[in-house]
Amino acid sequence: MRKKLIAGNWKMYKTTAEAVAFAKEFKTIFAGSNTENEAAVCAPFTQLAALKEAFSGSGIGIGAQNMHFEAEGAYTGEISAPMLAEIGVDYCVVGHSERRQYFLETDETVSKKLHAAFEHGITPIFCVGEVLSQREAGKEFVVVRTQLAAGLSGLTAECVQRLVIAYEPVWAIGTGRTATAAQAEEMCAFIRSEVKKLYGEDAANAVRVQYGGSVKPENAAEILNMPNIDGALVGGASLQPEGFLAICSV
Ligand code: PGA
Repeated sequence: MRKKLIAGNWKMYKTTAEAVAFAKEFKTIFAGSNTENEAAVCAPFTQLAALKEAFSGSGIGIGAQNMHFEAEGAYTGEISAPMLAEIGVDYCVVGHSERRQYFLETDETVSKKLHAAFEHGITPIFCVGEVLSQREAGKEFVVVRTQLAAGLSGLTAECVQRLVIAYEPVWAIGTGRTATAAQAEEMCAFIRSEVKKLYGEDAANAVRVQYGGSVKPENAAEILNMPNIDGALVGGASLQPEGFLAICSV
């Protein structure tokens, strides 16, 4: 039975003081919710150590939003997987569409980052998804299949079993335009079938596939009740403790 993972993606929001205030409140209300879902917050690098401490003993995970694929080196401004592992980071978002679009991440660097995360005991949240013109041209399955094959290349079936894949149609991110639950389910089921083709039944049954893109308290239940959707990657609606809890505890 796959445990659903609701992960907040804070993007470039919140100072450390604001993050700690969120964590204190969220930890309390999450404990009172008795949800069986798992919750995590993917925050800017500077907040991760403080969040780790603030969430200690709560079972709430923490994640980074990016990392470099080398363990160390002359890469000014970058942060590596062992640096994140030292803080006790559980997850790292890899290949988010904003990073592909604004920071020129490619399928090749995304794949290297997935390998680096697993080498250092961090579970990647590997993002895939088509842009609007690709969906309008009927190419969304080809796009996602290509991203998946490139990203997963060289990973073992054991790694893929632990992996989280987030289907995030780019046209639904931050736009208020959510994919319908049926569209989200259709693609998440497709992703699972691709994993099965590449890695077999055990990996396909174990891999968690999230949906992301304008998930809100109002639409979360319908999306999260779908059989192939194992959680959500939540941007804007993860910034307020009450709203995020409403999604986590559906
Ligand atoms: P959104 O962002 O929920 O604000 O649409 C989702 C994401 O970018 O992961």
